[in-house]
Amino acid sequence: MKADNCIFCKIAAGEIPSKTIYEDEDFRAILDLGPVTKGHALILPKSHAANLFELPEDVASKVMVLAKKLGAQMKENLKADGLNLLQNNGEAAGQTVLHFHLHLIPRYENDGQHIMGNPKEATQEELAEIQKIIIG
Ligand code: 5GP
Ligand code: ZN
Repeated sequence: MKADNCIFCKIAAGEIPSKTIYEDEDFRAILDLGPVTKGHALILPKSHAANLFELPEDVASKVMVLAKKLGAQMKENLKADGLNLLQNNGEAAGQTVLHFHLHLIPRYENDGQHIMGNPKEATQEELAEIQKIIIG
């Protein structure tokens, strides 16, 4: 189902042109308009889900299988040295378009990007406390 005024619904449906690199009945994969590296792409489900929490389980399963195939093809054909998968949920996490999308980011030696910047050190006690909170 499409959502009104959702730009990625329109792109996924082909109503707004994009540089498509893959399409099937469930997904369209496109080149990102603001690439962080050469070949930065997005997998868009054709049915609207705002984020991971709204994504149906069958779509969630299929998107990872597609990321594996397409990621391998991109790495090979772009002669990339690595690949990051990135998926933002919520403004605090950097999500700017509220239609689920999975970033495929080819990586090159010395490309200058820092996908997971600013790590902190944690003690075993701190990790144990967070472990308890998450398990619930
Ligand atoms: P987010 O920050 O929500 O995870 O990622 C949104 C991504 O979509 C950004 O990397 C941005 O460059 C890209 N983007 C936003 N609007 C468009 C568009 O109209 N076309 C394409 N191809 N990419 C877009
Ligand atoms: Zn949408």
